[in-house]
Amino acid sequence: MPTRKRGQQRSSADLFGRVAKLARNLWWTWNPDPQRLFAGLDPVVWEASNHNPLTTLKHLSPERKDALRTDAGFARLLRDCERHLAEYLKARTWFQRRAKPDQKRLRIAYFCAEFALHESFPIYSGGLGVLAGDHLKSASDLGIPLIAVGLLYRRGYYRQQLATDGATRAIFPRYDFSELPISSTDHVVTVPLGRRLLRAKVWCAQVGRVPLYLLDTDVPENRPTDRRLTERLYGGDQETRIQQEILLGIGGVRALEALGTRSNVFHLNEGHAAFCNLERLRALRTRGLSHNKVIERIRSSSVFTTHTPVPAGHDRFSLALLSKYFKAQLDALGLSRNELLALGRENPDDRREPFCMTVLALRTSERCNGVSKLHGRVSREMWTGVYGVQNPKRVPIGHVTNGIHTATWLAPEIRPLYDKYLRPKWVGGAPNDNPWQRVDRIPIEELWRMRTLLRRKLVQFVRTRLRQQIERRFEPVEGLYAALDTFDEDTLTIGFARRFATYKRAPLIFHNAKRLAGILNHPDCPVQLVFAGKAHPADRPGQAFAQQIFAFARKAGFCGRVALIEDYDMHVGRILTSGVDVWLNNPLRPQEASGTSGMKPPLHGGLNCSILDGWWPEAYNRRNGWAIGDGRAAPSRAAQDRRDALAVYELLETQIVPLFYERDYLGLPRKWLKRVQASMKTVCPQFNTHRMLGEYLELYS
Ligand SMILES: *Cc1c(COP(=O)(O)O)cnc(C)c1O
Repeated sequence: MPTRKRGQQRSSADLFGRVAKLARNLWWTWNPDPQRLFAGLDPVVWEASNHNPLTTLKHLSPERKDALRTDAGFARLLRDCERHLAEYLKARTWFQRRAKPDQKRLRIAYFCAEFALHESFPIYSGGLGVLAGDHLKSASDLGIPLIAVGLLYRRGYYRQQLATDGATRAIFPRYDFSELPISSTDHVVTVPLGRRLLRAKVWCAQVGRVPLYLLDTDVPENRPTDRRLTERLYGGDQETRIQQEILLGIGGVRALEALGTRSNVFHLNEGHAAFCNLERLRALRTRGLSHNKVIERIRSSSVFTTHTPVPAGHDRFSLALLSKYFKAQLDALGLSRNELLALGRENPDDRREPFCMTVLALRTSERCNGVSKLHGRVSREMWTGVYGVQNPKRVPIGHVTNGIHTATWLAPEIRPLYDKYLRPKWVGGAPNDNPWQRVDRIPIEELWRMRTLLRRKLVQFVRTRLRQQIERRFEPVEGLYAALDTFDEDTLTIGFARRFATYKRAPLIFHNAKRLAGILNHPDCPVQLVFAGKAHPADRPGQAFAQQIFAFARKAGFCGRVALIEDYDMHVGRILTSGVDVWLNNPLRPQEASGTSGMKPPLHGGLNCSILDGWWPEAYNRRNGWAIGDGRAAPSRAAQDRRDALAVYELLETQIVPLFYERDYLGLPRKWLKRVQASMKTVCPQFNTHRMLGEYLELYS
């Protein structure tokens, strides 16, 4: 007996070890089977941990472990998942089969300050991270030889709670690295930080085939303030910011060196990582190459993607800060102080101009791009100074329109429908696969049933979250009853979830509160609105937006028809974008460089109602959603707000609401579903990261 027991224990340790191993390749974040496996371990902890498989494993009770050891269904699902991952990793990829000979030699290093891979891995804040995470997943699916570099934040980005008055409370939990899907590489790199040396440990997160290396300064050799350098994403002051960017750019290149990777293309995703090219300059100079040769070599192997036309979105550092951190480096760089500063100035002769990371990236990268056609144009107008030209057409900035990683954003409930009608192999494949031309094969009854199901799931989610929010604020019990009864499963549901940056104008739809209340409470054709969004902890006006919506959601006329969900993250994003009928987007044109959230609803039969900004002008064709306004600018901000708000009311009253409620004898909104089909056919095949990676591959090679 005792021997058998030992043997049994060993095999079960092995069983849970296998689950942990599965959890350590983020492949599971875009595959529903392993997610079901992890959820089934302990659904309560799975939910409480924001879907973290390692936390769930850690908290398994002995009784639950016993039950799982003898659960044949569990064992079978685990084996299936392991087999699928193994097959995925050894399959011959699109890149291996189709890449051109000169592309085969590519070794891409991709730098970004944030990566959004899953809600349980909180090293992201918003759209930039989501794009970077989706980029890695598509690189893995397609087999593109890419490795990524970022920072590992001990406290991540903040978690948002709203107080009883709607004020933002920013919470920074401290994460236990043993519960994150990372492993230590045993490498520690040193980075000169002014007159001292900073050390950073290199971790690795595996994203399918793609490794993501993450730097962490919380090591005992560093002084306490340096240990806290990687505590928060976008936290602290300008000094913290420049230090983090030195770590990302310079430390990142050194980490790749230490790991022995041989990258020949460096993709700077946003200006944050531009010091990367200074470190490459230094390294090449030590090999004795001339300055011009070195710059040429760096430029020809760099790709830079700029992500915003908003001036505040471009880091600019004072000359004092720059000197402080680079004075001791000048000799090694082979640059005078002014030559260095000129690399970051729009006008190299302006001795007072601060040092801009975007300019550094533009000057040291041959291939530069914006993230939509419109943003490419706006960027060319914005950066004429860097190139010393008047005519924007002569500015060498192109565009690659953003996308989303389809499998990541797809609600599991809708997969069987696509498996059935969009066969074969409708997800994965190649950059230009288009299974969506077969959308018409899906019977509209089934499409509508799926829409109804996903909307119901969203409504349940809203109720649960509202209840939790009310309980946490110790609010009166009446609120709880109201929350359980709030929202309706068959009512036209409009969603708006964003970072609450002010240019996105979250409260725009409340411009004329009375008119909106009339639309929401129409006796036969009601409408409900669900909001979610965080503003940066230092962005007071953005937080005031959250507070305004919070207040409206409690007012008579809006209560029960407007909900504000706290702590927008990838999970909230997935539920909202899969459940809504209409996704509302009303930024101040042309400040939304691309936006990607609007690409998610069409995967689930949701429709866009959007300003003609970012990616939307490339997709909109009058039949696949709605455009707010015609893209022309009003004379003032106030006039623009007024005009755009009126356009939204007009669209709702005369088009969106009537079309949604127009039903045939079977209760089906046929004309609405025609739009849904048109939206799926036009948006899904084009606005995804597989197509995007195909375009970047051309830039890389
Ligand atoms: C998709 C997504 C984004 C990007 O959305 P935008 O359209 O750029 O606002 C940001 N945050 C989360 C959580 C997302 O899911």
